[in-house]
Amino acid sequence: MKKTVLLLAFAPLALAQEAPGPFAAVEVAPGIYQIGNTNEGFALNEPSDFVGGGVGLLVGDEYVVMIDDVIEQTAPALVAKAEEIAGRPVDFVINTHAHGDHVGGNAYVSENGALVVSHDRLRARMAGDERLDTGPGALPVVTFSDRMTFHVNGEQAVAIHVPNAHTDGDAIIHFRNANVIAAGDLSFRGLFPFIDLDSGGTVPGYLAGMQRLIDMGDEDTRYLTGHGPVATRADLEKDLAMLRDAEARVKTLIDKGLSEEQIHEANPLAGYGDEYSWFFITTERMTQTLIRSLTED
Ligand SMILES: [Zn+2]
Repeated sequence: MKKTVLLLAFAPLALAQEAPGPFAAVEVAPGIYQIGNTNEGFALNEPSDFVGGGVGLLVGDEYVVMIDDVIEQTAPALVAKAEEIAGRPVDFVINTHAHGDHVGGNAYVSENGALVVSHDRLRARMAGDERLDTGPGALPVVTFSDRMTFHVNGEQAVAIHVPNAHTDGDAIIHFRNANVIAAGDLSFRGLFPFIDLDSGGTVPGYLAGMQRLIDMGDEDTRYLTGHGPVATRADLEKDLAMLRDAEARVKTLIDKGLSEEQIHEANPLAGYGDEYSWFFITTERMTQTLIRSLTED
């Protein structure tokens, strides 16, 4: 009875407030945020938790710079969240790679006045792909080949190309003064990574890219991740050690002459499954990627 009365008492207040959006933000350094789903720690437990890849946001007196813009469907809610944090519209969006969960909001952010920037290969990969090249504003307007620096808000944000890692157009963004690095999908924190062999990604390039992220940082560095929570250098070292060991385990079985089917049966990544398997990259799919990488020319 009491409960009902309380609910009724609060109902008008609840109705007056806007429905909560699907995005939460965490400030990792003054003026720098990671934005992700509302789950605690941006955990990805179910497909229903998925609102797009991890987003970075740099706000200050001069400009608002966003890193990636999730999927088409959730981009308006993301932009609303970014504007709520920044208090004004987004000026620049840097794309980290050409996947629909990171660039799907390009048309929307462009429509709202942002300038989209990426690596050359990212734009080339998006152009003509009907899933990504969805209309006016979808393609980046400014592209770079090796690196590009944004001098904004007292920060130097350096976008750096990492060759043939997650895709062939990857960029990581180094906020030099704040000691923050946006890793894009070179970090699936605590998750088996997707390495897109069909879009120019390679396992050796991915391993080298992760090592580069580690070498760029120190124990205080905070990494904005493409999927999962904000990471430390130790987190990346752990994930890289897992991936190196996983590759070595698969290679041992290939060298023994086991067939693809026999390798899956032997399940060499079983020890990592509980911690790293998720709905998109299961233990089986990770194993398959490693087999393909090690057996294809
Ligand atoms: Zn991706």
